[in-house]
Amino acid sequence: MSAYAQPVKPPLPPKNYMLPTHLPVANKILGALPRSDYQRLLPHLEAVELSEGDVIGESGEMPRYVYFPADALLSLLSLVDGGEVFSVALVGREGMSGVASALGGQLSPYRTLVLSSGTAIRMKAKLFVKEFRASEVLRNAVLRYVLSLTVQISENAACNRFHVIEQRLARWLLMMRDRLSSDHFHVTHEMLGQLLGVRRVGVTNAALELKHRTLIDYSRGALDITDGPGLQLAACACYRMADGRHGRA
Ligand SMILES: [Zn+2]
Repeated sequence: MSAYAQPVKPPLPPKNYMLPTHLPVANKILGALPRSDYQRLLPHLEAVELSEGDVIGESGEMPRYVYFPADALLSLLSLVDGGEVFSVALVGREGMSGVASALGGQLSPYRTLVLSSGTAIRMKAKLFVKEFRASEVLRNAVLRYVLSLTVQISENAACNRFHVIEQRLARWLLMMRDRLSSDHFHVTHEMLGQLLGVRRVGVTNAALELKHRTLIDYSRGALDITDGPGLQLAACACYRMADGRHGRA
């Protein structure tokens, strides 16, 4: 376990969500399965409610579960010396958490943080590995996702290196909007600082600038994107490149 590890909290049962007994499901990987494959998985799937700020997987540990977000949004965080963290990728309903370490039998390189509360469907990591071997459709859907996740991680690394905070903040907010399918969501400046790998004051200044340009509005953690096209112009080219390649998540 990392020196900066946080306790992994067991998630609560969902409040308003029943695991669908039939397709479709909100998560795109599970939603890509043929009905017979989904029905076979069903006894091993469990819907859970995830709360903002919860750590559901820790760096340096084996994931016990893989999570398929329905409407929750996760952030994969890299830990660096001194306890600083920054986000290497977002995981929404297009994807899943714990995939690389589950398949490779390796300790997770990332902490998995719940960025936005919501529901996810989880499955024991060991069972997932068995199903991955058994189902060609699941295998193809997961491998496509792993490739897109790898691209996202490398794009984020390049973006962090070359682009200024305000452009990067605009990009992350658009990425969150796409995965949550909403212009209105809850996120604190502290969380945004972790996404961007900068101190809170840097985020606050960048957010203030976007607010002055009437692209966003926020109050007590509730954030509104008030001018989506304008925010896209304010974001660095990384967003438009990824948007063109993957379409909306
Ligand atoms: Zn960028």
